[in-house]
Amino acid sequence: MSHFCLLADPGKYAISDVDLIGDAEARRYWLGLFENHFTDTLAAAKIAYGQSSAEQIENANRQFGETIASLRADPRPVGSLGNMRLGVVELCRFREKALRDNGLGDPFRHIKQREDISAIEAYPNVISHIASLPVEQRWERLIRGVFAGNIFDLGSTITMGYAEDRVDFAATIERIKPRPWAVDDFDSLEAILPTSAVSAAPWAKAVVFVDNTGVDFILGVMPFVRELAAHGSQIVLAANELPSLNDVTADEADKILQQLADVDEDLASYISAGLFEIVSTGNGIPLIDLAEVSDELNEAAADADLVILEGMGRSIESNFNTEFTVDSIQLCLLKDPTIAARVGGEVFDCVCMYRSGTRD
Ligand code: MG
Repeated sequence: MSHFCLLADPGKYAISDVDLIGDAEARRYWLGLFENHFTDTLAAAKIAYGQSSAEQIENANRQFGETIASLRADPRPVGSLGNMRLGVVELCRFREKALRDNGLGDPFRHIKQREDISAIEAYPNVISHIASLPVEQRWERLIRGVFAGNIFDLGSTITMGYAEDRVDFAATIERIKPRPWAVDDFDSLEAILPTSAVSAAPWAKAVVFVDNTGVDFILGVMPFVRELAAHGSQIVLAANELPSLNDVTADEADKILQQLADVDEDLASYISAGLFEIVSTGNGIPLIDLAEVSDELNEAAADADLVILEGMGRSIESNFNTEFTVDSIQLCLLKDPTIAARVGGEVFDCVCMYRSGTRD
C-alpha cells in the first residue's frame, strides 16, 4: 500500500476529512449519526446472517457502542486504531472492525444482491435509450444517470429508503435537479467530449473509483464509462477490496461486468479488446484515503490520463481538494447536509467537478 501514483503532490496529500477532535459540534453530529446508523446496519445484518447470528450482533453492538461512548468521553482514538486523528474515516474503520470482528462483514449483502438483479434486468433498456440519443446529447444524460444511481446509498439515512423501494431509474433521473448543479463544470467537460460516433475521447485511459453496487454501478457508472470506451478510452474500474455498506467490491464488479457483457454485445467487444480492467483499491470503507492504495491500482493507473471519483464519500467527503497530475472528474449526489454545506449546497444537490491535471 502506498500513495496513489497520480496525486499532484503526494507529500502534501491529506484526506479532506473533518477534525472530530477539534470540532465538538461536528463530533456530536457524526457520533450520533454513526450510532443511529449502526442500529439500521445491525437490523440488516440480522436478515443477512439469520437467527443464528444473534450473539454476533449483540457483540458487535456492544463493541461499537463502547467505542462511541469512549470517543464521546475522550475523542482521541482508542484501541487498535490508536493514532491521534479522529475523522469520519476513523469512525468508518471502527464500524467495519466491529462488524468484521464478529463475522458480520457484509451486513447489506441481501439488499446488494436484490438490487444487482433488478439493475441488471433494467440495464438493456437504459443502454438502448442512451443509444437512441444523438452522441452530443448523451453526455449530460449519462452524468445525470450517475447522479440518479448515486441516490441508492445505504450509508445515508436520508437515502436508505431508495434502496428498499423497487428500482425506478427513469423516474429517479427525472427527479435529479436541473442545471446549474451545486458544482457545475459540465460546460467545460462537454466542450471536450466527443460529439460524433467517430470522434475519439480526450483521454486514453481513465481510472474510475466506483461507489455503490446495484443501480449506482450498473445503471449509472457503467453506461457512462461504456460510452467513454466506445470512443476509445481504456477503463480501469477501481473498487473496494472488502465490503462496506452497499459499496461494490472488486470481486463483485468483476462478476457484474461478465453478466452485463452477456446481454450487451458492444460491452463484450470492448472487454475482449482489453478496454476494461478491474482492480482492487485495497480499501475497505466508503471513503478513500489516497495515501494508502494497493500496488495493483498504482500499476494500472501509472499510464492513465483521467481520474474519476464517483460518490460523495470518495469525492467531496475525502478528496474535495485533492489535485491530480492528470485531469479529474468528481461526480456525486450530496446526501448529508454537513458535507453538502462544504460546497455551498443542500441534500440532493449534484456535483460535477472537472479539473485539468497539474502535469499540463
Ligand atoms: Mg457507498
